[in-house]
Amino acid sequence: MRHALALGLALLSTSAIAAEPADQWQAKARTIYQHAIETPTVQGRGKVPELARYLADQYKAAGWAEADIHVLPYDGDPGDHTAALIVRWPAAKPSGKKPILLMAHMDVVEAKAEDWSPGLDPFKFQEKDGYFYGRGTSDIKEGVSAVTTALLKLRASGFQPTRDIIVFFTGDEETSGNGARLGATEWRKWTEAEFGLNSDGGGGGVTPDGRPLGFTLQTAEKTYAMYTLTVRNKGGHSSKPRPDNAIYQLAHAIEKLEGYRFTPMLNETTRAYFTVRAKGDKGALGDAMRAWLANPNDGKAADYIEASATEVGLTRTRCVATRLEGGHADNALPQLARATVNCRIMPGTEPAAIRAEIERLVGDPGVKVEQTGNPAMSLASPLRPDVVAAYTAAVHKRHPDAPIIPEMSTGASDARPFRVAGMPVYGVDGSWGVIPDDERAHGRDERLPVKAFYEDIDHWVDMLTMLAGK
Ligand SMILES: [Zn+2]
Repeated sequence: MRHALALGLALLSTSAIAAEPADQWQAKARTIYQHAIETPTVQGRGKVPELARYLADQYKAAGWAEADIHVLPYDGDPGDHTAALIVRWPAAKPSGKKPILLMAHMDVVEAKAEDWSPGLDPFKFQEKDGYFYGRGTSDIKEGVSAVTTALLKLRASGFQPTRDIIVFFTGDEETSGNGARLGATEWRKWTEAEFGLNSDGGGGGVTPDGRPLGFTLQTAEKTYAMYTLTVRNKGGHSSKPRPDNAIYQLAHAIEKLEGYRFTPMLNETTRAYFTVRAKGDKGALGDAMRAWLANPNDGKAADYIEASATEVGLTRTRCVATRLEGGHADNALPQLARATVNCRIMPGTEPAAIRAEIERLVGDPGVKVEQTGNPAMSLASPLRPDVVAAYTAAVHKRHPDAPIIPEMSTGASDARPFRVAGMPVYGVDGSWGVIPDDERAHGRDERLPVKAFYEDIDHWVDMLTMLAGK
């Protein structure tokens, strides 16, 4: 997934300026980007291994040793063979510091040409009116290409890393996420690092007239968990209704869930996020943020924030009914009624605790509350001063006025299994888009400003120079 910055609601129009490749590195990045976009790495098409080998060849040609490059085939969803790419750049001047892991994913969400605007094809790379168009231009073949080119450029410039730099690109982030899970467990001998820097997170937003809204630094994401509420009943003939009825009983439980609000929670990331947001909002929403920050027990303030369209999901765990099934005949009392509930749980909260809370809330032993699957609790990564400083400096070099906004994402990415396994990960990409018109990840006419793409190469060069140089 790719979460673009959702701050401010600016009017639509584009002021991005076209930019020709200014040097061999921009030209190289563009070539890699085009090749990546035109390799349709959609689930089920089996194209990820091909892209992984192409990228491996780029590193090989630039001087990386065969032994440091691994294309690892694995299974994504059943029957879908995909691959991960792991490339190690061993420290030239070892400082004793543990490696840095650079992350992205090579797969993309499906797209159909007939759904896109005339003249655009999701798997045909196009530059038009200051934008690069194609599936994956913003999620996240841009990151794959910028990170790769940054490393090629650093190596060619004679840069001597003081710690190992490891590239880890997965092939099924958008679907089953097995690559990230393997990366955080079985493949740990190749991926072990002090922390990860994920290009599939962070990034910035600007208004149509070019005013920076801010760049996010993603440190946390909520846990995705599923629950079912099930009522069983002996049923009977519908001509003889009884007070006990599976559908009514379930409906009463769901009604309780609808009105329920979990206890608001602030963590290091959301506290930093709301501090920046409050500064930029002089209105009622800003007042609520200031009140909540001053008193985290001010539930009314948190409720006000939660109810706003821009902040929903950021103040607490949220659960919502997403599916419903019940009954087996038009003329029979239902024997079964079941609702599926999707929860997005705050980092640090166990999914089992949310199940217990829903059970208490429903307060009916006839409604069975069960967790499906086995989601791991997510953990927030601490705001490391070295990462925050490197990201801030790299962003401010190109966008001096942009606020840096720590972010907890309400969705999930490849970062989660690493955070759960104890390795902090930071979403720190340097690309940006015009808000809201360029927020098209997973959607039609996906695009990225040409300028944002080329800037991102040097953003990664600058961050790696700071974190893995000297
Ligand atoms: Zn993504």
